[in-house]
Amino acid sequence: MLKESFLSRRDFLKLSATSLTAASLLQIPGFAKRLEAAVAEIPVIWIQTGSCTGCVVSIANAVSPKIQEILLDQVIPGKHISLAYNATLMAAAGDLAIQAMEKVAEKKGQFVLIAEGAFATKDDGLYCQIGEKNGKGITGLEHLINLGSNAMAVLALGTCACYGGIPAAPPNPTGCKSVTQVFTDNSIKTPVINIPGCPPHPDWFVGTVATILIGGLEAVKVDIHGRPLAFFGSLIHDNCARRGHFDAGRFAKKFSDPYCLYELGCKGPVTSADCPTRLWNNGNNWCVGCGHGCIGCVEPEFPYEKSLYTVVPIEKVTPPATYPAVEAKQISPSVTG
Ligand code: SF4
Ligand code: SF4
Repeated sequence: MLKESFLSRRDFLKLSATSLTAASLLQIPGFAKRLEAAVAEIPVIWIQTGSCTGCVVSIANAVSPKIQEILLDQVIPGKHISLAYNATLMAAAGDLAIQAMEKVAEKKGQFVLIAEGAFATKDDGLYCQIGEKNGKGITGLEHLINLGSNAMAVLALGTCACYGGIPAAPPNPTGCKSVTQVFTDNSIKTPVINIPGCPPHPDWFVGTVATILIGGLEAVKVDIHGRPLAFFGSLIHDNCARRGHFDAGRFAKKFSDPYCLYELGCKGPVTSADCPTRLWNNGNNWCVGCGHGCIGCVEPEFPYEKSLYTVVPIEKVTPPATYPAVEAKQISPSVTG
């Protein structure tokens, strides 16, 4: 006997595989309604445009919870997301996949759109097409405008979706733009949460989704760049294990030196993210820990017009709590040391 409260989507899928087919279960009178009531679903459409697909690969590497738990099980008790469309992860392709997207898109204001990659806008977005209708390609730009207008919210995933990133780097021949820029150009008011990173950390995505499921969109507090403060609220430089070397004026001259990487172009002093404390690859290491400076991959300036290795000016210095207060607008690293 199926009870309303215990059946997770995962249980349902297991049951379907071992005993009845999903189609035959759905023939049971009232089953579909009871299943719907048992677990609140948030349908998600995930489009990928001007990107390397690295963002979805990074998210697929989520360890706790695992990606299959995020997509099939309950992220928090009683609620889970239901991925209706993602060209990389879904088994369906072609018309079947586009139909799945369209079915969810009919539910205006009831689905979340995840946008990965920058959006080509030159020549009406001709340079990126996803699917076709009546023999004519549908551009990524069209998808973003149509789906974005009707979504309850948009998660811009990865630096390209958040700020344009590498596809929008000069000379930007395809006129790539971020989600927010496209929305501004087209007067679309749907809320956008930016989860930047090249790629974004899986926890940044999972944590943001879980926060929305628990407390709604308003529970996600963001900074001036629309990034969740829970993950992007502190300066890399203030939590870096090499900060003591910076303060003492000991700078690496080559990448294998164990000192502060500032003079080799580390962007930690102008980059806000929790990489030094959260770490990557299931808490194993992070960029500076590997001996390379932070390249500022979560900032709007990335990939930097001059070079990833240009030394950045120090504009905001927060000395460790044991130091006397320092107040300065521009300060050189040696003076700080
Ligand atoms: S400049 Fe880079 S390596 Fe040096 S302390 Fe700051 S974040 Fe760490
Ligand atoms: S340390 Fe810097 S470059 Fe590395 S992932 Fe974090 S923000 Fe990106």
